[in-house]
This record gives sequence, C-alpha cells and structure tokens, in this order.
Amino acid sequence: MNFSLRAIRATAASPLRRFTTTNIQRRTMHIQSIPMWTGSHDNYAYVVIDDKTKDAYVVDPANPPEVLPVLKKLIDSGEINFKGIINTHHHRDHAGGNAEILKQYKPIPVIGGKDCAEVDVIPKHNETFKIGEGINVRAIHTPCHTQDSICYFMEDGEDKVVFTGDTLFIAGCGRFFEGTAEEMHEALNNRLAKLPEETRVYPGHEYTKSNIKFGKSVLDTPAVRDLVQFCEENEQTQGKFTIGDELKYNVFMRVEDPDVRKATGETDPLKVMQKLRDMKNNFKG
Ligand SMILES: [Zn+2]
Repeated sequence: MNFSLRAIRATAASPLRRFTTTNIQRRTMHIQSIPMWTGSHDNYAYVVIDDKTKDAYVVDPANPPEVLPVLKKLIDSGEINFKGIINTHHHRDHAGGNAEILKQYKPIPVIGGKDCAEVDVIPKHNETFKIGEGINVRAIHTPCHTQDSICYFMEDGEDKVVFTGDTLFIAGCGRFFEGTAEEMHEALNNRLAKLPEETRVYPGHEYTKSNIKFGKSVLDTPAVRDLVQFCEENEQTQGKFTIGDELKYNVFMRVEDPDVRKATGETDPLKVMQKLRDMKNNFKG
C-alpha cells in the first residue's frame, strides 16, 4: 500500500458540530488551496492531486504571480505531475491566468466553459473525466452568473467535493450577470442541492463572512448563528462546509422557507430568488 500520510486525515466533517453526522477517520482527497489575496482580491485557486499517480490539475489559477511559485515547488519536488487547468467560468479573476500558466507549462489542456481563455475542452453537462486513477470528475453546468459556468463534482472513494466557482458561495451565490433567477434556482436548488449532502464545497471566493451577515438579516436560526461564529474565529472557510450545511443556512437554497418568504415578501420560488439577490446587492451590513 502506498497511501501518503496526508491522505489519511481526520474527518472532513463539518465544523458546525450540530450538523456532523460522522466522526470516523476516512480517506480525503488532497486539495491545496492557494488564496490569491494580494491587492483587493479574495479568490482561491486550488490544486487537486490524485494520491496514487500524483496527477494534478489546478482550478482557476487566475493570478500567476501567486500560483506559479506554488506549482513550481510542487512540480520540482516531484509531489505532482501537472496535467492541466480547470476553469469554473470565463471571468478574468478565474480564467485570466491561463495564458501565462500555459506559457510555462504547455502543452497542457484547459478544461472549462466555452468563453474561458485558451479553452481546449468544454465538458458537456454531466460529462465525466478522471484525474489520475482515483478521482472521478463530473461537470455540472450551472449557467447564470455566466452562461459558461460549470461546477465540478469530484469523488475519490468515499470523499466528495465540489468546486463551485461564482455559482455557489458558502452561504451565498454569485450575481446573475448573464442569467436569470430561474437559472440560479435550477443551479442551486436542483443541480447542486441534489449532490450528496456530505459533499464539501470549494467556492471561488472567500465571501462567507459578508454572506452570512446578509443571511442573518433574513433568517436567524442556530445554523446561521453558528456560521457567524465560525467566521469570527476563522479567516478561511473553503472545504469546511458541505452541501448539507448549505441547505441549512444558505438563504438562496431555502427559497421555500416560510421565514425567507416572509423576509422577501414573495412566495413563488423564482420571485424569492430574485428578491434575495436584489436585497443582497443592496445590503449594507
Ligand atoms: Zn465571476
């Protein structure tokens, strides 16, 4: 057996203990976060590594000055075989680093939505591919924030994660730049809500603190208060919460909750969704 030690880690179960369903040790996927926080940025790139083959992809490496040193170290030390780029959507703060990364590491494929810079492979909705031997990836089309938004659901044995770009944030969602409330409702409350509830969420930005501030103005429940508290004590929230958690505190995933309906003054789920987005856009917390 050749499991690296880091692959046998403590459970990734939710830090919100009231939601934790299991505390057993289990194998977890190796994901390295790269916070790209220089200047006014607050987004994340992620390196996803298959333990057995060391094959690795980088998700949304938008800012090469912050990403390239990390990649170089991982490559030079033999920790990864760098195989390609995965993009969640075309915005510059996600796909804007592709050309520069390719300059260093061509030929590697860029997998992403149709409008992403340098894109080679555009996976269809529900199309699958593999990273190395162990990680199964399924592309989930979630048009709205952009029409080319794709979330990537990944499974490695029992471990499940989803990279959600600017579609689903922890306790929030992206703006409807190229789409409608109906499309965001489909993305969040049909496609993503149906993923296994233990799926850990890796969003494109660290917006949790402000999202849950808005969430609390709409819905004041123990789940919401726990996340407020978590954000007081932790700067980074990516990969710490699950789809099951989102269903409890993310108001955009609770459009049929009576309290959310009341706060928006709407009952139709699509009108609730649109109203929530408008309220969030104007929220001064
Ligand atoms: Zn975006």
